[in-house]
Amino acid sequence: TSTPLVPASELSQDEVITLCAELIRFDTSNPTSDERACADWVAGRLAEAGIESELVESAPGRANVIARIAGADPERGALLVHGHLDVVPADASEWQVPPFSGEIRDGYLWGRGAIDMKDTVAVMIATARHFARTGTRPSRDLVLAFLADEEAGGKFGAHWLVEHRPDLFAGVTEAIGEGGGFSFAIDGTRRLYPIENAQRGMAWMELTATGRAGHGSSPNDENAVTDLAESLARIGRETFPIRLIEPVRALLEEAARLYGVEFDEDDIEGSLERLGPVSDFMQVVLRNSANPTMFDAGYQTNVIPGKATARVDGRFLPGHEQELIDT
Ligand SMILES: [Zn+2]
Repeated sequence: TSTPLVPASELSQDEVITLCAELIRFDTSNPTSDERACADWVAGRLAEAGIESELVESAPGRANVIARIAGADPERGALLVHGHLDVVPADASEWQVPPFSGEIRDGYLWGRGAIDMKDTVAVMIATARHFARTGTRPSRDLVLAFLADEEAGGKFGAHWLVEHRPDLFAGVTEAIGEGGGFSFAIDGTRRLYPIENAQRGMAWMELTATGRAGHGSSPNDENAVTDLAESLARIGRETFPIRLIEPVRALLEEAARLYGVEFDEDDIEGSLERLGPVSDFMQVVLRNSANPTMFDAGYQTNVIPGKATARVDGRFLPGHEQELIDT
């Protein structure tokens, strides 16, 4: 059993929904927008409740908000709870509900960031405000961090703060962020809560092909677009081999034990099938991957450009970065 930090009856659900909807209305698309207006708003909601915070810009507009709430026991290490204010961009024409409207439709709150992760940010703000209103002191220092730039690697958010403002995290011994907490029913009485570790690394790549520019009506065997498209197609269709790293092996073995199915190291695919719903999220931790995601070339249909560029989202298992690059 677990005791919620704040009983649900005391934490106003309406307040969380309102805060989340307002957060969604800030277009914090990364990289096309910045977080400043949203960060100012967060600091304002905290200040309303009498909670001091510091707004830290790593670059113009790239704003982070940090607040420290004193705990009852200063001897205990502080707990960091962090969320990010940026979202990945959204093309409104692909949405049934405008992505930055924060609209409630059919009983659901819609918008970019509604589940990643302005929902959590709203819960963090509502909880802090609840503490302030009721004079609740957490058992230990609580550091709330509302960060910039998570979606593009954290360069202007977490990375920057750790390098330039470690003082903000003084005394922190544990941190809770997004991800994890998804549970799987094993049977009627037991649930499996995976703990994330050994995250895959990012190896984002830019590919450039150069060729011979020319008129679109003439033969050209050094067409940069053709060459790059060929390479990208091969990268996109590559199936990387399964590499069973130690943490994943431990996870699979334990999951198999709990589900009462056989784990066969020489037949990973078969073992996954036996694990049912758990196997879905296992797919991405078994191998490296590389997906072409952007392509840029040319400016006119009848002109063969001398250059084409593309981006590839590469991900590697711990210890397998070189293998990805080599492949
Ligand atoms: Zn996220």
